Amino acid sequence: MSSIFVLVDDKHVPLYRVMWIADTPHFCGNEDCTCEGMYEVRLEGDDSVWATRPERDNVLKAVEAWHNGQERDQQDWD
Ligand SMILES: [Zn+2]
Repeated sequence: MSSIFVLVDDKHVPLYRVMWIADTPHFCGNEDCTCEGMYEVRLEGDDSVWATRPERDNVLKAVEAWHNGQERDQQDWD
């Protein structure tokens, strides 16, 4: 059973709010940057959450499973 939420950085993020997911870890060279080495998960509305590598992979899998589930639902209606 796939959920519509995925857990990133202690936040349950609704999958439909995810715009894109970073392929490479964040690096900006800023001394007080707290997201160095984290993967950005961009959300609707100019919002971002920061994921560890396993979390990032988990988000990718969850979005894919969610999308596949939606396609199956649509086929059921035909
Ligand atoms: Zn930074």
